[in-house]
Amino acid sequence: MINWIIKRIVGSKNQREIRAMQPVVQRINELDEQYQSLSDDELRAMTARWQAELKQIEDWGDVLKRLDEILPETFAVVRNGARRLCGREVIVCDHPLLWNMVHFDVQLVGGMTLHNGRISEMATGEGKTLVATCPMYLNALAGRGAHLVTVNDYLARRDSEWMGQLFTFLGLTVGCIQHDQPPHIRREQYSCDITYGTNSEFGFDYLRDNGMATSKEQQVQRGYFFAIVDEVDSILIDEARTPLIISGPATVSSHQFDRFKPLVEQLVKQQTALGNRFATEAKELFEQGKPEEGGRQMFKVKLGQPQNKVLLRLMEIPEYRRAIDKAELSFFSDTMRDELFALKEELFFTIDQRAQAADLSEKGREHISPGDPDAFTLPDLITEFTEIDLDTTLTEAQKIEKKSELQTNSDVQAERMHNISSLIRAYCLFERDVHYVVEDNKVLIVDENTGRKMEGRRWSDGLHQAVEAKEGVQIERETQTLATITIQNYFRLYHKLAGMTGTAETEANEFHDIYKLDVNVIPTNRPVKRLDANDLIYKTRREKYNAVVNEIKTAYAKGQPVLVGTVSVESSEVLSRMLKREKIIHSVLNAKYHLQEAEIVARAGQRGAVTISTNMAGRGTDIKLGEGVADLGGLYVIGTERHESRRIDRQLRGRCARQGDPGASRFYVSFEDDLMRNFGAADRMTSLMERFGMKEGEELEHPLLNRSVETAQKRVEQRNYMIRKRTLEYDDVMNNQREVIYGLRNDAIEGEDTRKLIYEILEDALTDKVLEFYPQSGGQQNAAGLLHWANSTFPLGISEETVREAGNDAETVANFLIEKIKKSYEMKCEHEDPDALKGLERYIILNAIDRLWQEHLYAMDSLREAVHLRAHGQKDPLVEYKKEAYDMFVELMRNVKNEVMSNMFRSTSNLAAFEQFLASLPMNLLRPAEAGVSDQPQQTRAQPVAAENEDSDIKLNLSQRKAPAPVPQIAKVNRNDPCPCGSGKKYKACCGRVG
Ligand code: ADP
Ligand code: MG
Repeated sequence: MINWIIKRIVGSKNQREIRAMQPVVQRINELDEQYQSLSDDELRAMTARWQAELKQIEDWGDVLKRLDEILPETFAVVRNGARRLCGREVIVCDHPLLWNMVHFDVQLVGGMTLHNGRISEMATGEGKTLVATCPMYLNALAGRGAHLVTVNDYLARRDSEWMGQLFTFLGLTVGCIQHDQPPHIRREQYSCDITYGTNSEFGFDYLRDNGMATSKEQQVQRGYFFAIVDEVDSILIDEARTPLIISGPATVSSHQFDRFKPLVEQLVKQQTALGNRFATEAKELFEQGKPEEGGRQMFKVKLGQPQNKVLLRLMEIPEYRRAIDKAELSFFSDTMRDELFALKEELFFTIDQRAQAADLSEKGREHISPGDPDAFTLPDLITEFTEIDLDTTLTEAQKIEKKSELQTNSDVQAERMHNISSLIRAYCLFERDVHYVVEDNKVLIVDENTGRKMEGRRWSDGLHQAVEAKEGVQIERETQTLATITIQNYFRLYHKLAGMTGTAETEANEFHDIYKLDVNVIPTNRPVKRLDANDLIYKTRREKYNAVVNEIKTAYAKGQPVLVGTVSVESSEVLSRMLKREKIIHSVLNAKYHLQEAEIVARAGQRGAVTISTNMAGRGTDIKLGEGVADLGGLYVIGTERHESRRIDRQLRGRCARQGDPGASRFYVSFEDDLMRNFGAADRMTSLMERFGMKEGEELEHPLLNRSVETAQKRVEQRNYMIRKRTLEYDDVMNNQREVIYGLRNDAIEGEDTRKLIYEILEDALTDKVLEFYPQSGGQQNAAGLLHWANSTFPLGISEETVREAGNDAETVANFLIEKIKKSYEMKCEHEDPDALKGLERYIILNAIDRLWQEHLYAMDSLREAVHLRAHGQKDPLVEYKKEAYDMFVELMRNVKNEVMSNMFRSTSNLAAFEQFLASLPMNLLRPAEAGVSDQPQQTRAQPVAAENEDSDIKLNLSQRKAPAPVPQIAKVNRNDPCPCGSGKKYKACCGRVG
């Protein structure tokens, strides 16, 4: 009831907002009329005039205000431009196309919503591509770039070439980012007034610019002012589950998948045998009229092997289904805890399909590691550490050693448990050809929404490797994160963000909470004539597919085109086989054909066409009806399963009946569908089914049943939202850190006065350092220790006496030392090559940041895993993560500064001059005595990511610690691609060089 009231209010709020825009639409229409009398050049001149005017305005707030003011004029110019293009032949993706579009009024409304930084929900076929032109034009006038984000490279190219006609006609420049472009081309595209591209290209460019580029020249982007995200739900919700990661191979790899695979494989086999036995027993018990025992037995199978074939078949029978539900319900009550535990112990492991988790039982542990019950328990480190601390027989050094030993053991243990659990998940929860495909000795993730292969993406947390082990393909090396950002946080960079899609309403809350994006539902240009039929519900998949095939046959016989949506590649293939048997000609769109998918989808509205497509393949392509098809009822959309999310179902339905065309849609559902099994929809249905008196082979159809399905969907949506929110909460922690680090990096890259930056860091770090030796809280002052450190880090050659004479409070001593160091540094600089000096100083800073930041990212990854293990100890992992991440970051910043400080005198642009400088020092001051510091300046590459500088005359000695020199590797970089470091060389000839 409350919901209903809220909806009414929200609904009418939307209407009010739309109505409020009407006068502006009116005004645009009038202006458009007036502009008819202008010449093409006069119209175009308005663009330049606005650009010049906005450039003059200094205050940014005033610029934004002015943009709002000129909205009606600019929208009218764009529409007038479109009017003038009518009848022109334009070339789009190498095909000629006739321009025949002038913005409809509702398209102007959609455009205004976008300018206001909101989401325009507009149905498929309403012409969102054109809608975007008005706000893109307007915002591009501000001269800070305007980005249009598409779901794939093909659409970026298509839309930039198509709409580009209009923009260039009006005097704006248009660019398009494509995956294979080298940096200098990218930079050109970004410097255009308007730039089209996919979210991952934009995101990766951000990471490369801010996390990897070592000079301004290597950076390609120029800020984040305004972006419109097309298919915004797909990008900000579906894609948002996997962050963008640039990674290189990790330095160490500790997995033991090979070792545990045979053990787990055996375990899974045994569990299957066990499951089959229990299921058979259950059947017998039922037949003997013992439903309670039967239900209990079935529940056991469900715990250990939710996909067991016998189990699934038994579940088809309502009576048995009820028995298992009852058993399940009773076992999850508090009083039955021990019984549940005992039940689990009969299995080797339990699977929680909802949480996608696997848990070894005692029996399973014994099986994998006989006679070693402790092999799978983590030591209680806190207690053990405390015991060590209290042990008076140990020296401090021994205590530290003991603790570190314990820590190492615990880590190994955790890794082992993690490996095994990943393997079980790989075997029991991830199905080949549903969740992933195997190609060229590789495991490729299949996007569950689109059915597309997600090239270059990997499951995190060792799961991908576990699946690789399961499939017997090459287990790829663990990778180390070099730079990463979630899609959410990338888009939050924009000053103004807007989005458009056919389906946003169901996710309005999430858009609001995470992105501050409100949704406006824009009315369609013409009334929608689509007929959405009630779902048809079957007991089994088999019956359902048969019914679908019959329905297709009927439509096919008439010549009515059918678009069949499936949720997985596997069901696409099952259906395709069935249709072949019936001799029905059809096309299949799934991961395997995605190059042609746009073209195939475009033909899906032709007479007699049958197209099977995983849920949203070919999104963004318009399906026009062929001749005479309207008389046959238009395109018929059949969904073969309800998706987890209502939005995806709406999307599928929306593929027909565009622009007032006729069309129809219907979903087919069975009790065996995952959604029905996992989220309790089937339970409620079982009883409904009986009320309706359903018999074998029959189908059910009733609005009440549709509601049950939707309730299940809402539950899944909620859960998925929580998962995304969680991912974001974790990334938020790192996002703050990333901003600090990238800010510092950019200061170094952009700042002209690198010397000043170095001095700032020196002053900071040195003051901290002196405090270590001169504690504020009245501890022992240690002038000797300070001196030893100072003399081995800087060529000062001062005595203890000098330090004492300088003063005895930390501040005075620090100031004294800073002056000395600066003087000495100026001296060193006189020996340097003046042209290379700035680069050298920049390098000192960047090198320290990059190396330590990468180590930090690695540590943060581990921390994330570690806090999850701790979650068992009833601590909130996020709180723990935040706390430790903060400490680690403080430590990181300190280390960066210290590293800059100690490299000030250990780097040179000119080795000969450096030797000279050393020789000029009164003593051999730069021959440090501290362990780990080598005593000779060595030649090192100036820029670890930019190989062309290998022979440059900047030489370095960075030898304190063996830095892991990770080879930058972008997800999806091919060996022949341009190198992501921005060198302009091929990847294989640059950072990707083997050896
Ligand atoms: P959407 O992205 O909203 O699904 P598209 O931008 O792909 O829709 O456009 C769908 C079709 O509608 C395209 O063929 C386009 O040419 C056509 N179209 C869009 N706007 C207009 C218009 N104002 N007048 C005529 N045709 C239009
Ligand atoms: Mg579109």
